[in-house]
Amino acid sequence: MNTAILLMSDDDQFVEELKAEFLFRRPEIRIFLPEEDGAEQAEVAACWYPDPSLLTRYPNIKCLHSVAAGVDHLGEVLLTSGLPICRVVDDLQKQGMFEYVLWGVLNMHRNFDKAGANQRESHWHRYSQRSASDISIGVLGLGELGQFVAQGLAQFGYSVLGWSRSQKNLENIDCYNGSQGLKGLLKQSEVLVNLLPLSSTTQGILNKDLFNAMPVAGYIINCGRGGHLVNDDLLDALESGQLRGALLDVFNKEPLPENDPLWQASGVLITPHVASDASLSTIVDQVADNALRFMANDCLNNKIDPAKGY
Ligand code: NAP
Repeated sequence: MNTAILLMSDDDQFVEELKAEFLFRRPEIRIFLPEEDGAEQAEVAACWYPDPSLLTRYPNIKCLHSVAAGVDHLGEVLLTSGLPICRVVDDLQKQGMFEYVLWGVLNMHRNFDKAGANQRESHWHRYSQRSASDISIGVLGLGELGQFVAQGLAQFGYSVLGWSRSQKNLENIDCYNGSQGLKGLLKQSEVLVNLLPLSSTTQGILNKDLFNAMPVAGYIINCGRGGHLVNDDLLDALESGQLRGALLDVFNKEPLPENDPLWQASGVLITPHVASDASLSTIVDQVADNALRFMANDCLNNKIDPAKGY
């Protein structure tokens, strides 16, 4: 079978690395970058922040594949194109996300964030220790990543609550759904972890109303997308003490501009969108397998529902 994939991204280095990995792992599949001879023959496009005119430039494309867990980066035009859309789901990425969130939770729980701030003032202060079961953690989003993270935190002894669109029944997790459910979760969540996909219904969800619905001195861990967070509301909540701190991995504009006030905000830890990546080998295998399935008219793996946006 003559399967060809077009790789399209705003990150030239990333697509070059992805192409090399395809050629190494899946030589049976033809891989094209935009403008390369033969690119117009590809029927599957594998994308990370692709050009919105992708389908006008390459009208032969009939299937879109995100090279990440999320699909928001495909943009409105491609998400509403009516074409089948798939994404990557990776067990190692789930483990990496759990490690990242656990680091943020421990920072707050064991006061390592305060110890770091105290060190900068050469100030010695011992905080009393609390047990993990005393700390309630709300996880927004109970999908592939959220469920894994929530269950891992519960295994560490934390009291874990979770929120999703549909009601779930998960061992050791107090599950909520709907807007009333969100209020119920927030009022008990000292730490809030965001692992929602970015869509029209979740844009700006981390805002002042949400912070005010949490117990005073709450802690936010945002590893969803920058569009979930209203930055000014976060800065106000930190200033007023409604929030004690935040661990932020994702931003509206990446890289986060040097003059962004978030860099200097007290209690904020910033990481450069590294919470957890899928490996290149997993991306290549999943995209290649789905491209072969598409060409053979078989069921696709990890297909999203464009109506829901995830
Ligand atoms: P997923 O499997 O699609 O799960 C999404 C979860 O969010 C589901 O539980 C879904 O509810 C829930 N949800 C969606 N819209 C909702 C709404 N309006 N109200 C309540 N719940 C809603 O996604 P995933 O694979 O876990 O990934 C989640 C996100 O993590 C990705 O979209 C991406 O943005 C982010 N991510 C970040 C990094 C990083 O390095 N920072 C890495 C990977 C992924 P139902 O279960 O009821 O459908």
